[in-house]
Amino acid sequence: MEKSNILIIEDEAKIARFIQLELQYEGYNVDISHDGREGLNLALQNDYDLIILDVMLPSLNGMEVLRRIRAVSSVTVIMLSAKSEVTDKVMGLDIGADDYMTKPFAIEELLARIRVCLKRKVNSTPVIEDDVLRVGKLIIDEKRHIVAYGDENIELTKKEFDLLKYMLDNKSMVVTRDKILERIWGYDYIGDTNVVDVYVRYLRSKIDNKFNIKLIHTVRGVGYQIKDEEE
Ligand code: CA
Repeated sequence: MEKSNILIIEDEAKIARFIQLELQYEGYNVDISHDGREGLNLALQNDYDLIILDVMLPSLNGMEVLRRIRAVSSVTVIMLSAKSEVTDKVMGLDIGADDYMTKPFAIEELLARIRVCLKRKVNSTPVIEDDVLRVGKLIIDEKRHIVAYGDENIELTKKEFDLLKYMLDNKSMVVTRDKILERIWGYDYIGDTNVVDVYVRYLRSKIDNKFNIKLIHTVRGVGYQIKDEEE
């Protein structure tokens, strides 16, 4: 069986090194980052089987790192926190951590949880989920070109589809009008820049208004954001 690749994002060098040695001894390939932003980049650029992510990190905290990873990836994440605060744990799990451990912990417990997480991943049936983007009950199935809210299909034009997909690719992040214009209409677009607002309105009438929800948010003076308030 191939070795699993694990990334540790933890700024306390001694702890990171200790976990790395233990994991290597167990036969895993292990990378380390001591910085939130650098760790995020590593996570996005490489194909890890599991990420161990500390909450308190320099440059970008662990919650934000997790949020950004989750916008594009379902990689297994175990969060570490020095705090035993329940809110931290709940927040981490809400954002999409697979497991959560409070420091200090026994290394044996971490190893056991890693084994469980990796096994769960192997056992879960072939993941078609990879091609499905979702926010709340709204999903986009890229391969089958389907948009649905719950079990009700939503008919979108090509541009509306592209716009919604781009926003979901950047779920919970604010996308500027310029960026949307550039990505969906292209650099050389010379029409009215209000086109973005017009299309966001179309999406709202077909999604938010129709299902009486609020997923598409306006960030005044900046752009738009798609997120589920409940998530
Ligand atoms: Ca830390």
